[in-house]
Amino acid sequence: MTDKHQQRMAAKKAVMDAKIAKATEERGILILMKGNGKGKSSSAFGTMARSLGHGKRCAVVQFLKGREETGELKFFRDHPMVDWHVMGDGFTWETQNKEQDIATAQKAWETARPYLSNPAYDLLIFDEMSYMFKYHYLDVEPVVEALQQRPKHQNVIITGRTMATPLQEIADTISSVEDERHAFRLGVKAQAGIEF
Ligand code: ATP
Ligand code: MG
Repeated sequence: MTDKHQQRMAAKKAVMDAKIAKATEERGILILMKGNGKGKSSSAFGTMARSLGHGKRCAVVQFLKGREETGELKFFRDHPMVDWHVMGDGFTWETQNKEQDIATAQKAWETARPYLSNPAYDLLIFDEMSYMFKYHYLDVEPVVEALQQRPKHQNVIITGRTMATPLQEIADTISSVEDERHAFRLGVKAQAGIEF
């Protein structure tokens, strides 16, 4: 029994070691967090905490502003290694004005874009950016171009339920968070510290 287990684990280790030996490239990656389940933005901010732990410089651009001031904003905004921008004050059903929404989206992109040519930043989070493409507030092509031309070491995380295909084509890591169950549908009210 133990021998068999040991053999299986040794075989597994050999396979893993071979995979690790093959992954030698050192560069920043583009991560997409998509899907209808809960955990996209919180994963991005968890990764940012991880980066900050290693002394890396980070920037966040939030393309949609929620109703509440989020815990992550309160926690990270005063961190000396974090720039935090909340854009998109009132979109779609709030404004019901497409021209204004496009102008807001454009402003958010103008805030985000310079970071993609600034090598001082190690991690960028474009939170809820995917909606800009879904509602045609932004063209995806200039975003793809800027992402492709960014500093080699720079990591970028984009979140949002649905992702534009051109972004998926250039992404290195794509995680789809599945909505299996959500407390909201059980009648539980959104709570500070969990939902926002
Ligand atoms: P989180 O910020 O918790 O990681 P998210 O980024 O994956 O969530 P969004 O689509 O940005 O999800 O929605 C943000 C808010 O909506 C959060 O308060 C989140 O808990 C809630 N939410 C996410 N998924 C669902 C769902 N399937 N049903 C109801 N509420 C959801
Ligand atoms: Mg989110």
